[in-house]
Amino acid sequence: MTVLGCKLCQRFISVSHCPEGNPVALEDPEKWSIIFAECQKCGAYICDRCIGNSRECPVCGSVVKIHRPGDGFAAEFDQRFQEGFREIAGRSTDRRPFFSRLFRRS
Ligand SMILES: [Zn+2]
Ligand SMILES: [Zn+2]
Repeated sequence: MTVLGCKLCQRFISVSHCPEGNPVALEDPEKWSIIFAECQKCGAYICDRCIGNSRECPVCGSVVKIHRPGDGFAAEFDQRFQEGFREIAGRSTDRRPFFSRLFRRS
């Protein structure tokens, strides 16, 4: 399971390959979010509680995309991650913004 953090609160975001969501995350909804928004512009991740019914990024105001377990995002994320890793291994710096975003802690 890939773990992201909500940009606005302390909840974790679970990116799971399970169609129903990761069981650990489902057991502790106070700490875990399985539905979340991804900003298409600044790349912020926002948990379902913080985004609510809004489809606007609270950071930059752009449109966000909502991800749910089973919508294929976990596979897409893995692929992005592997591509990023390969490029870093090949000493390309192109993917650095992606990685710094991924590991940044607010
Ligand atoms: Zn949140
Ligand atoms: Zn944004």
